[in-house]
Amino acid sequence: METKAYNPYENMIAVLEQAADKLGLKQDEYETLKYPERELTVSIPVRMDDGTLKVFEGYRVQHNSARGPYKGGIRYHQNANPDEVKALAAWMSFKCAVANIPYGGAKGGIKVDPRKLSKDELIRLTRRYTTRILPLIGPDQDIPAPDVNTNGEVMGWIMDTYSMFKGHSVPGVVTGKPIEIGGSIGRAEATGRGVTIIAEKCLEDEGLDPKEQTYAIQGIGNVGGTAAAILYEEGKKVIAVSDWSGAVMKKDGLNIPEIREFLSDRKNCLKDYNGEGAEHITNEELLTCDCTVLIPAALENQITEENAGDIKAKIVVEAANGPTTVEADKILEERGILVVPDILANAGGVVVSYFEWVQNIQSMAWELDEVNQMLKKVMLKAYNDVRTMSKEKDSTMRMGAYMVAINRITTAGKLRGGPISMA
Ligand code: GLU
Repeated sequence: METKAYNPYENMIAVLEQAADKLGLKQDEYETLKYPERELTVSIPVRMDDGTLKVFEGYRVQHNSARGPYKGGIRYHQNANPDEVKALAAWMSFKCAVANIPYGGAKGGIKVDPRKLSKDELIRLTRRYTTRILPLIGPDQDIPAPDVNTNGEVMGWIMDTYSMFKGHSVPGVVTGKPIEIGGSIGRAEATGRGVTIIAEKCLEDEGLDPKEQTYAIQGIGNVGGTAAAILYEEGKKVIAVSDWSGAVMKKDGLNIPEIREFLSDRKNCLKDYNGEGAEHITNEELLTCDCTVLIPAALENQITEENAGDIKAKIVVEAANGPTTVEADKILEERGILVVPDILANAGGVVVSYFEWVQNIQSMAWELDEVNQMLKKVMLKAYNDVRTMSKEKDSTMRMGAYMVAINRITTAGKLRGGPISMA
């Protein structure tokens, strides 16, 4: 049997419909959430270092603004495409609603493999992309942030380009900036930290001691790498990690600081890591390895109907956006594996983005303790709201999270007398 090609946007709509149905909403009440409010596709001409001209394709999609300005990252990836960005933008609306921060959702992307570009080419690409989406963004309109393959440095270039056009410095136009130019302390680690907060709480609720468990993490980039480092510091066993080149495993726990140090040289990748006792395994073996907590922290479409039946973890904590397909979700539910959905588990990043934006508006800089305490408070509140909803409606945590999100967004829409209230 041939499996249907994965489309993240269709996946998003399928889950949205299931949740709206469970909430007993009429179609008119949630129909608008299927579509982005605004989409922009841009061409980005870049003069390459060898003098040739290349034209890249970029996107910015604004999904929903009922609860506040649009918010969401920008990714640089060779597979970025309109349907992926549309799904990611919707997930941002849902994530901000679950975390109960006053934002809507958006996402941007450029179809490019950034590893193939020099730093100068990346700067030119980023600046031109920023001018193309400039009419759409702004601290009260739409606030970009880092996502896959972008970081604080890229945010600095975006902020500078935007500020040049405005004629004055506008730090609040992006979040995830370097601290020296208005970024928040704790932002770079926030998504990974949030994932560990949620994993710990969830294990406790399931009656499992977080210290006794084993963790496997797919992807050791900003999110997976930070989560691995925090778990290691807390004395927990991270038994498997991966990057694009392969995965390594050690049953009594990997030396995470050593791996991170090795990978900090960007020429290195995991397939060449030869730490003591580390065994090389495939990405597929990592996903199906014997562990208590599986943390997919890479891309969409990783846990599918092909491998969901082989997952051995008791709990899946989605650090990536959209790692599990609808079909896989069903299999995991039937097998009694608890899935903590992306729009809850990885909300830590955008939560501290919100703190950064608030600090920019107030021209203030908070201390790390304040940021981390507030992050924990917001994450645990969101977790409790989701758990309560899933218990009330006797459904999965994914359904619970979507129901919380849909309730909040449609209520905001109704109170504004907007199109969502047309039912
Ligand atoms: N890209 C991150 C996400 O998917 C963070 C977005 C933000 O901080 O605006 O949640």
